[in-house]
Amino acid sequence: MKLLVAVKRVIDYNVQIRVKSDQTGVDMDNVKMSMNPPDENAVEEAIKLKDSGVATEVVVVSIGHEKCQDTIRSAMAMGADRGILIKTEDLIEPLAVAKILKAIVEKEQPDMVLLGKQAIDDDSNQTGQMLSALLNWPQGCFISKLGVNDKTITITREIDEGLEHLEIQLPAVVTCDLRLNEPRFASLPNIMKAKKKPLDVIAIENLEIDISPRVKFLKVEEAPVRKGGTMVADVKELIQKLKYEAKVI
Ligand code: AMP
Repeated sequence: MKLLVAVKRVIDYNVQIRVKSDQTGVDMDNVKMSMNPPDENAVEEAIKLKDSGVATEVVVVSIGHEKCQDTIRSAMAMGADRGILIKTEDLIEPLAVAKILKAIVEKEQPDMVLLGKQAIDDDSNQTGQMLSALLNWPQGCFISKLGVNDKTITITREIDEGLEHLEIQLPAVVTCDLRLNEPRFASLPNIMKAKKKPLDVIAIENLEIDISPRVKFLKVEEAPVRKGGTMVADVKELIQKLKYEAKVI
């Protein structure tokens, strides 16, 4: 079984985001970047399947700046076999990412594509679903458990009503939740080994895919600063305040 994992390079989740003064985006200068957290879960799950003999190859793909090579190398240090960087300086929207991933799927012919459930920078939560639609493959989104059978996979997803258990046909697209597993730390020898693993760099222009933006950014604003809380003496006072001050009930 061959696995393709999509990893995005995003601002590290510990960084305090600063909006640019002209409101055209967020400040990326000298900011720590890392692999999108749920993508680490996707990489971990793929490597676990390889460690257990279920998968034979784990290929990692990232779309973006030259520096995304670092993210791919991190995945290879965790255990992925090889990487593909689709290089572009442009901001790539989820639909364009999905189209590019589809082209890679057609070339690489994986049995399963694993993505994160959501990128923490754009919070789109769209790419996996769009990819599955473009490929006409079944999808399992926000999975917190994965089992692989011969021609199907069993997945568990957390939904409002509880846990949903599904069986879906392979090939399939899955998007991974943070609860799926505990991503491993790469050891120093594995970080060194990852430097020698194959990484293909392909210019986005060579794919001849329409990546033109469909969305126009108007402006980016800081989130409103939260006002301090108030201690109330009892439930009666809380209800009074909600009713007559906040006017929400
Ligand atoms: P989104 O739909 O933007 O919330 O992203 C969902 C998932 O799609 C991410 O967790 C990644 O696995 C994948 N993805 C999105 N953008 C990229 C990208 N530029 N390169 C590689 N994978 C991506």
